Amino acid sequence: MTAPGPAGRSAPERTGAAARDTGPGGAAGRPGAGAAPDGVLILRRQAQRESAARTYARSLPIVPVRARGLTIEGADGRRYLDCLSGAGTLALGHNHPVVLDAIRGVLDSGAPLHVLDLATPVKDAFTTELFACLPAALAADARIQFCGPAGTDAVEAALRLVRTATGRSGLLAFTGAYHGMTAGALDASGGAPDVRVTRLPFPQDLRCPFGVGGPEGAELGARWAENLLDDPKSGVSAPAGMIVEPVQGEGGVLPAPDAWLRRMRELTATRGIPLIADEVQTGVGRTGAFWGVDHAGVVPDVMVLSKAIGGSLPLAVVVYRADLDVWGPGAHAGTFRGNQLAMAAGTATLAFVRENRLAERAAALGERMLTALRGLAAAQPCIGDVRGRGLMIGVELVDPDTGAAAPALAAAVRQECLDRGLIVELGGRHSAVVRLLPPLILTDEQAAAVLDRLAEAIPAAARRPR
Ligand code: PMP
Repeated sequence: MTAPGPAGRSAPERTGAAARDTGPGGAAGRPGAGAAPDGVLILRRQAQRESAARTYARSLPIVPVRARGLTIEGADGRRYLDCLSGAGTLALGHNHPVVLDAIRGVLDSGAPLHVLDLATPVKDAFTTELFACLPAALAADARIQFCGPAGTDAVEAALRLVRTATGRSGLLAFTGAYHGMTAGALDASGGAPDVRVTRLPFPQDLRCPFGVGGPEGAELGARWAENLLDDPKSGVSAPAGMIVEPVQGEGGVLPAPDAWLRRMRELTATRGIPLIADEVQTGVGRTGAFWGVDHAGVVPDVMVLSKAIGGSLPLAVVVYRADLDVWGPGAHAGTFRGNQLAMAAGTATLAFVRENRLAERAAALGERMLTALRGLAAAQPCIGDVRGRGLMIGVELVDPDTGAAAPALAAAVRQECLDRGLIVELGGRHSAVVRLLPPLILTDEQAAAVLDRLAEAIPAAARRPR
């Protein structure tokens, strides 16, 4: 695969495979040696056979057959710049050589691929590398629990951990949060009420619940939290923990202000409430620091990790202060806790990000992209806000007349992007935020190409009849 097209090239490129694609029912559709897969047919079968709950597949009708770095090639021969990156999983992009080498190394060594939670050299190396990357104050006396492989598994484990350690059941969580799809994680997320979860306002400027935004809005939220905990008649009993994303991702790319996060750390520490940082999406350099909490200098009691730590393969862990480690054997189990390929891929990814200072790179490049997007916003009244941290960027689309979130326009932008060979996803309360989660290995030229395509797509979508 060749590099993505130069900045400004706006149509998805076609490779030689396109010429071979004879469309539905054509020769290319028949499986067999050398035959190109028939994307149209595959998509049709997917629509017929897969669940109504499928998500990305609906808005991104692509059949990826090859990928490298930022670029995905579809069965139709089109190439796309992938700014979804497996929902933020692919810190090094697709098929990075160090990740492939690590996977091949395990395969060629004869090591078992699956060993429950037994000790192996591959796991030992992963834990050593992860501990080397953790905030030093946590790593100094940390424990690690390998969970089932999804982020939501690690969230469940973290909740069970703090509930066991404190003997309490309540939880503090935030509006707009997303922690996963299993019962406990879903309860902690913004859309699902649970009597054990007390919902606190997450700071945001554009739609600040107190109408002021900025540091003042964040401070009011912190006072509300403090008051709930200290008022004996607030109806909120002492919780088992507080769970927070350093940057809300699915909630619409909302960075927690540093001072506010420090206030959350202080108010939990002084009241003996474990602070759980959900770094599933923000970890491993994504936000321009190795961990999202590093920006504020906050050391949580528990960190929930998944996505990038598996180097594109499924892996999730919880790391936490040793004195919380009072749960018994089997308190949190699961069959798939020993994926050796994921651990090897994860070790390689963590080491590559650390050694090549990709967090710093994400910070610098992300800042430049935010500046460029703010320039675009000045000329496009349908852009209500541009925000983010590092290479976790959101562009909120609004109705220029009312300022209301504009989900239909955002969906049109996503489609216009796709037509121009750029993959983006939507997030936010109203699915009106176009999200960019490019890999940390993004080059300046690629960043320019992404911005050019987005800059074309937004006015094109705005021109569509409403
Ligand atoms: N926490 C956060 C912050 C997430 O962004 C996600 C997934 N987007 C999860 C937890 C859940 O991870 P998974 O989908 O792997 O269960």
